[in-house]
Amino acid sequence: MVDLPRLHFAHLPTPVEALPVLSDHLGGPRLMVKRDDQTGLAFGGNKTRKLEFLVADALARGADLLITGGAAQSNHRRQTAAAAAKLGLSCTLVLAGDPPKHASANLILDQLLGADLVWTTNDARDATMARVETEARAAGRTPYLIPYGGSNEIGALGYVFAMEELVAQGHQPDWIVVASSSGGTQAGLTVGARLFGFQGRILGISIDKPEVELSCDIVAELATRTARHLGEDLTFTAADILANDRYLGGGYGVMGAPEIEAIRLFARTEALLLDPVYTGRAAAGLLDLIRQGFFKPDETVLFWHTGGTPVLFADRYAGEIVGK
Ligand SMILES: *Cc1c(COP(=O)(O)O)cnc(C)c1O
Repeated sequence: MVDLPRLHFAHLPTPVEALPVLSDHLGGPRLMVKRDDQTGLAFGGNKTRKLEFLVADALARGADLLITGGAAQSNHRRQTAAAAAKLGLSCTLVLAGDPPKHASANLILDQLLGADLVWTTNDARDATMARVETEARAAGRTPYLIPYGGSNEIGALGYVFAMEELVAQGHQPDWIVVASSSGGTQAGLTVGARLFGFQGRILGISIDKPEVELSCDIVAELATRTARHLGEDLTFTAADILANDRYLGGGYGVMGAPEIEAIRLFARTEALLLDPVYTGRAAAGLLDLIRQGFFKPDETVLFWHTGGTPVLFADRYAGEIVGK
């Protein structure tokens, strides 16, 4: 395995906790949670682990400016702004959509953390990021472009070593259930499982990819690239990846009744806070699978919490979560 540059600003290892009240309430299986909502960078989340490798790579290349993009309430954007602030780098964030009249949740934090915001349309996102990068270079800066969700072979390394961490904590659940969108988290876990002897299965609940084949292809391809980047000659195919695309609801960022139910149930049984976009949807999928008897009653299922909790306070969701 190649030794790749990494920074250490995450609060690791994140705790693994049992969820006895929720498990009882549902009549099994045995539920646990990996608290990556507690990774410690500006309210935490899964992007912290990715950014330890991405920002280390940026610094190794002499970057003085991080550029990334994301949806209206992107956690990746907030955490990139936080990492930039901590490392003394500038940060430009490209946002798709219209600026809201009042900022809330992550959009407040992006600005509080000192990032510059550039608004664009959905279609022009990539072009705008490229333009921001070109203009920065022309102005004598050294920009470093981080892809959406931090999901490339560098960012995914964060989850290769997150799996090493879980195994070292002595946990071998039968299942890991995790929200999956740009795929870096699941890809990293998949590589880590192979490298560090994780025996269980990893099920990605798709947040926004309409076809399970597409999710599996994206994750397998990224897992292979990530392993190669680490100097490991491993190949992953779609057959190595488990994904579920039945919980897409109204589409990305649309919180419906299943997400609200999951958010309330986790809060009221375990005081565990989920988010409306990712973990609420993944947990809704988990609840449905449990009710269908997908897991055996004596199995252990670890829900990998990927963060996003500041979005509970976004104007768009807050009223609906508690009822009007
Ligand atoms: C980005 C994000 C995810 C998805 O992770 P990917 O690596 O993009 O699949 C899941 N949960 C939260 C809270 C996120 O912010």
